[in-house]
Order: sequence, then C-alpha cells, then structure tokens
Amino acid sequence: MHTTKRPYRIGLAANRIHQDASSAALAQLLQGARQAIETHLRPELIVVGRTLDAMHSHRLLTGYPHIERFPYGREGGLMKLVSRVVDSDPSRTLDAVIYLMDPVDPSSAFPEAVALKRQCIIHGKPFLSTLASAREWLELEACALGAPPDPTLDATFDLANEGVALIAHDAMKGKMLELAERHFDLLDSFATRCATGTTGGLLNQLAQKIKGEDAGHNWVRPFLSGPMGGDAQIAELILDRQCRRVLFLEDPHVARQHEADIQLLERATRTVTDYASCMSDVQCVDRWLALLGKRIKIKAGA
Ligand code: PGA
Repeated sequence: MHTTKRPYRIGLAANRIHQDASSAALAQLLQGARQAIETHLRPELIVVGRTLDAMHSHRLLTGYPHIERFPYGREGGLMKLVSRVVDSDPSRTLDAVIYLMDPVDPSSAFPEAVALKRQCIIHGKPFLSTLASAREWLELEACALGAPPDPTLDATFDLANEGVALIAHDAMKGKMLELAERHFDLLDSFATRCATGTTGGLLNQLAQKIKGEDAGHNWVRPFLSGPMGGDAQIAELILDRQCRRVLFLEDPHVARQHEADIQLLERATRTVTDYASCMSDVQCVDRWLALLGKRIKIKAGA
C-alpha cells in the first residue's frame, strides 16, 4: 500500500461478461462509484484495452482525464499489469488492481491472471476481483478522504446482519490472531463468524481470552480444516449469500496441497460478484477493517 500523498494508481480489467451489457458489473461499478472516483479519490486508472473500449461504448467515466490505455489482453495488457504491480518506481507502480473476474471465462485462469493476484498479495496491494469488493474498497477509501458515506451501501455495512469468514494458512495464523485481536470489537459486531478448522480453534481461544465466558463456546463457527474441505464448506455459505466477506490470509510462498479448494473458495466469491468480497493479505485486511470501523463510526455520528 502506498504511503505518499499522490493519488492511487489502479489497474482495471474485466472479463467479457462483466463488460458487455450496459448493466454489467463494470458499468455498475463505475456508475455506482462515480463520485468516489471523480470527486474524492481521483485515481489514475490504467485500463486494459477491451475494458476501456467497453467504458467508451457504455459512456462510463466520460471526460475523466486520468485514464491510461493498456494493450488488449491478447497483446499482453494483463501481463503488463503484473509487471506494474511489482514495479517500485512511484511513477509506474500500481497501488491496487480491480479485475472483475468471471469464473467460467477461461481467461480468468490464465497464468497472468493467477500471477496478478499472487503478486498483489506478495506486494501488499488490494486485488479486487468482485464487483462488491471493488465497490466497497472505493467507498471505504473515499470515506477515509472525507467523502460522505454512500447511503445505497448502508445495508451492507449493517454488521449485525452480516457474516464474515476468517481463514489463515499455517504461516499466517499468527498474523490472523494479531489482526483479530486488534479489530476484535469490529469482528465481534458481525452477526456470524466462521473459519476453517485450525484457524477457528485458535480464534476461539483468543475470544475466550478477550471476552471470557461471554465469547460462548464457538465465537467463530469452525468448519473442517482447509485441506479436509473447510474451504468448500465456507464456499457454500458464500454461494447461499450467508457470508459476504472473506478474510483469507494466504501464504503465496508455499506449494499448497489443497490449491483446488483455495481456488474454489475464491471462485465462489466471483460467482456472486455483486455480493461477496475476499481480501487475501495482511496489510489490506488490516486497512479494510480499520476503514470499515471508521465508516460505521461516521454513520453513527461518532
Ligand atoms: P486451517 O485451514 O484453518 O484448518 O489450517 C486453513 C487452510 O490451510 O486452508
């Protein structure tokens, strides 16, 4: 995450199904977040060719001056986005990537698409692959700059009606516990919490330590351990729209025997793109939770 005062530079791409109709996810995102983009964040947008063509044909962000065109996907546009994620030159680096993915579009599983997410995690930058996650991220970042909360999103921030999933690979479990301790009150205000088995056991111990008996037996509902199918169980909750937000601290540096399950869970969020979000690295989750708390306080008039 960049710390200078320059505006964000965001990579933007979308799979075909999310571009083509005037009511598709790309249009919903750019119309819904128009104020946040044009008035508050004023990011530089680096847009892959066909996505930019779709923006022009649906008249999205017309007249917005800070747009750079990247090549079409088949000419390497997505590959160049990966290179910009890892670039440390402040005049070139991307601070976040929005890639509206369609899980049944084969290009969403191309190596450059996988590498784009992986390098975002490694470099601590948000990778936003669903309409809901991109919309929420732009809203929270705009609110952090003083924008008034968008009332059309209020229902999604009523955490007393929301679920959250917490998952951490082995090397990240310590970080998950630190995050859960730092943001305990916010996580506690969700209607439901769930987790993969081992992560859930550790979080329940933490909740007992912080809240004592009030935490109840299962502060977090533990599903099976990830490698035993816990990711798939959580994916079903997401597909059934019972759990909107997934905090998934991935370890991108090891081979994972249950890679298919991990991908399945992410694909589930993209299957309900207007509903679910997934954040996969420590810095982004930390900031996301902090800004979520901030928006809730602004709404409460605190
Ligand atoms: P665990 O599963 O919480 O049971 O360790 C997480 C994972 O490895 O996917």
